[in-house]
Amino acid sequence: MTDAETLFERIIAGEIPSEKVYETETTFAFRDIHPQARVHVLVVPKKRHRNVAELAAADPQLLADMLTTAAKVAELEGIAESGYRVVFNTDSDAGQTVFHVHAHVLGGEQLGFFGR
Ligand code: C5P
Repeated sequence: MTDAETLFERIIAGEIPSEKVYETETTFAFRDIHPQARVHVLVVPKKRHRNVAELAAADPQLLADMLTTAAKVAELEGIAESGYRVVFNTDSDAGQTVFHVHAHVLGGEQLGFFGR
């Protein structure tokens, strides 16, 4: 296991400081240190799975918990009405850098189209 793989587990454990936004029994939400929008929060399951595909196959309820937490974060951040985006970068071409599945919750401004 590399440092990158354990990073979010250390954040959840409080060993690496983060700005917590919300927490449930199974998920943890904190501000991204390099925000790509006015609101940029990461939602992470406390139990580690490599990516969203592995999570969906292994534990669909935990994936549902992540999306419920993402919706709660949007409400807490005041962007539930204006709209927001939930992104799962998955492996190399998508630029996934931390191999502990996480959802990016982005909003608070008009978001551009994305892709290349
Ligand atoms: O989807 P991807 O794996 O690229 O996203 C990882 C995210 O974790 C990045 O947006 C990065 O800014 C964020 N990060 C963080 N705190 C850290 C290390 C990375 O918020 N200590």
